Amino acid sequence: MAQILDGKKLREKILESLKSKVEKFQTKPTLVVILAGDNPASKIYVNNKKKTAEKLGINSQVINYPADVTENELLSKIEELNNDNSVTAILVQLPLPEHISKENIIDAISPQKDVDGFTPYNFGRLFSGEEPIVYPCTPKGILLLLDEYNIEIEGKHAVVIGRSNIVGRPMAQMLLKRNATVTMCHSKTKNLAQITKTADIIISAAGKNIIKGEILKSDCVVVDVGIFKDENGKTRGDVDFDSASQICSYISPVPGGVGPMTITSLMLNTVELFEKSL
Ligand code: NAP
Repeated sequence: MAQILDGKKLREKILESLKSKVEKFQTKPTLVVILAGDNPASKIYVNNKKKTAEKLGINSQVINYPADVTENELLSKIEELNNDNSVTAILVQLPLPEHISKENIIDAISPQKDVDGFTPYNFGRLFSGEEPIVYPCTPKGILLLLDEYNIEIEGKHAVVIGRSNIVGRPMAQMLLKRNATVTMCHSKTKNLAQITKTADIIISAAGKNIIKGEILKSDCVVVDVGIFKDENGKTRGDVDFDSASQICSYISPVPGGVGPMTITSLMLNTVELFEKSL
């Protein structure tokens, strides 16, 4: 039976030490979150981010815009926040309403305040093998989780499923930087099972229940990023936990694995940007 990669436990440990660190700062980091529209999931995520920041003593502000906000309104707010020295971190909650270009909005954020690590500067640094100012939160959290359990990455075959800018692409680059041999899979990949059977580490971020124990190599490490509701309204991940946990050596549960690590990384990034701004 596999050992659990416990994201909740690691979150508590990291946040506790971050809180003591923030207490010692004379001025505090300030995270501003821009939320456009009324996507219920986004509202919950933003609320959690604000509550977690406040618990750590980080100033946090949410700026709400209606779904019909214009791109120019958002761009001028970002410019104002970029020029405001009291603001040390800016996050634009995705998805944005359809009439707004996500690229234009993200490109406008100052890379020094880009807490998600999504701006072209930070992405460019990451993809050219350099250090970005901060790393994207979900892949950063996954590496923290693997490191906590002393899982070796160098020389291992890591299979990343999903190629989004939020998870798969930066994850693959970060694993490559840690000297893994990386294979990226996506919806057009043929014979996924043949590939996963050779994986030492699988990071699955498809948003679909695609991983069963029978397609895993024994003793591999499985990180389940997916989170969605099934037809019965139950929260599920990409991995069939019962069958997979019989085969692999480590597995992250859903919920309680990657989710808590993503918000932890956001807090770490907020503090890192603040320290770099001093
Ligand atoms: P996304 O933008 O929808 O991307 C999904 C990726 O999975 C795409 O690259 C897609 O391939 C690939 N894919 C879809 N079906 C597949 C299949 N049958 N076999 C192989 N690949 C397949 O998703 P995302 O934003 O990266 O999120 C993925 C999942 O992770 C979602 O469930 C999301 O809720 C969750 N998530 C969780 C956290 C967390 O903190 N826990 C953070 C971010 C995301 P194509 O590119 O070919 O379409």
